[in-house]
Amino acid sequence: MAGPAARVREFFLLGGGEHGVGGGGDHGFGRGQHRNGHGPPCGRRGDPSGIPGTGADLRTLGERYRAEGRTVGLVTTSYLSDATPAAFAAHAASRFDRASIRTAYLAPGGPDPLLGGGLDLPRSMLEAAGFVVVEDAAGLAAATTSGVARLAGVFGLYLPYEFDGLGPYPSLAGTTCAALDVAGRNARASFLLIEGGRIDRACHANDLARCIGEVVGFERAVAAAVEWAVGRDDALIIVAADHETGGLEVPEDRGLWRWPVVRWSTTGHTAVPITVWAWGRWADRALGVEHLTDVHDGLADPAFPRPRITSMVRAKDGLALTWLAISGRVYQVQCSASAA
Ligand SMILES: [Zn+2]
Repeated sequence: MAGPAARVREFFLLGGGEHGVGGGGDHGFGRGQHRNGHGPPCGRRGDPSGIPGTGADLRTLGERYRAEGRTVGLVTTSYLSDATPAAFAAHAASRFDRASIRTAYLAPGGPDPLLGGGLDLPRSMLEAAGFVVVEDAAGLAAATTSGVARLAGVFGLYLPYEFDGLGPYPSLAGTTCAALDVAGRNARASFLLIEGGRIDRACHANDLARCIGEVVGFERAVAAAVEWAVGRDDALIIVAADHETGGLEVPEDRGLWRWPVVRWSTTGHTAVPITVWAWGRWADRALGVEHLTDVHDGLADPAFPRPRITSMVRAKDGLALTWLAISGRVYQVQCSASAA
């Protein structure tokens, strides 16, 4: 370990999950906005549909980290121009303005690698922008082995549900590992947004089997990232949902190998509280937050991952109390023996 600067090398963000058991989201905290249940703008403050704001562009986490020389990769089971990945790297007044989102992706210095569904991301345009394009699991394996420069894995318009079989396409765990391979080549730092994007779709359809299949697939992706990160002291994994979908309840667990009795309350999004998990170095910056936007604020802080010391009180018995602003209004108090 060379020194303090070298320790700040990688961190990773796994966006996921829509609902009580896990993950999947159709918009995240990439742009620092909170709008539960609305079709959001991406990377903008406010929009014409009446959500307050000026309409000015917000700096996305992807742009922030690219400017710092980090690799910024987007991985999803939905289409790459969907709202969650877009919120980390594009600016658009509507999530459906996929042409604007595509323009941001294709621009020099845009996100790389891109691994997900290719709706409105034609192969010809990706290649013209300098991407090597692969379209199945075998192509992805060959591309990561050979170390191509700018990589786009485009797997249909969006990935099939794992429950239905993936055919020639890679699983989310597979694309996660490929993105980790690419990101690991950056000597400075990397940031990955990995989305179990179709959990939300299954829950909109109140489709329990496909919901479970997608959550299991997302869990395997998290496990792959954790396995990669074990033993490192420079990696952070955050797992969060942007909201619950479907109002899924399980009134009766019928035991192993039997479908539980479930109840759905809606085919839309709900305001059920979601949980944020974090693992690794600086995980305390992401835990204990009140709003998802606080996670964004923590990650966007120029001081990140160095906690801001807001005050220090040295006690008479030689102990030092240090207050660390973890995020927003959340503080951690550390007690240590004074060096003085
Ligand atoms: Zn949704």
